[in-house]
Amino acid sequence: MAECIFCKIVAGTLPSYKVYEDSDTIGFLDIHPTSPGHTLVVPKKHYPDLVNTPPEVAANLVAVAQKLVPSIMDALSVPAFNISINNGAEAGQVIHHTHLHLIPRSRDDGLRPWPASDYRTGEIEEIAKKIKAKIV
Ligand code: AMP
Ligand code: ZN
Repeated sequence: MAECIFCKIVAGTLPSYKVYEDSDTIGFLDIHPTSPGHTLVVPKKHYPDLVNTPPEVAANLVAVAQKLVPSIMDALSVPAFNISINNGAEAGQVIHHTHLHLIPRSRDDGLRPWPASDYRTGEIEEIAKKIKAKIV
């Protein structure tokens, strides 16, 4: 897509700090990292979000993540990772070209986990039922 920043990075018309490339996928450093080494894994073909990405393409992104994470751990001496996907604007997706975030984590890095909450009585059963009814 002409206006997509990640398509431009794939095409090489926008610069990036690329750390990985194969025939279908690239990996490059996020310019506003959550932590040093924060890497984005991106399919070369444009899909707007994970749900609208063919399963085999999505599976390949995970396979590339499995390859890159140990290398980044080794290179930067980090012991752990968050791997995340923002699906949709309300979930924080800003670039509407499917991508995985690989976020290096260390003890005492100051990053906070997502907050946890509680269900009111009966709510968890109700929600599970609603979701199951929609799965085809
Ligand atoms: P998301 O919010 O999941 O859509 O994530 C988009 C990510 O892309 C953000 O973490 C941005 O910092 C990152 N980003 C935006 N533009 C660029 C760029 N030109 N090169 C590298 N990372 C970028
Ligand atoms: Zn794109």
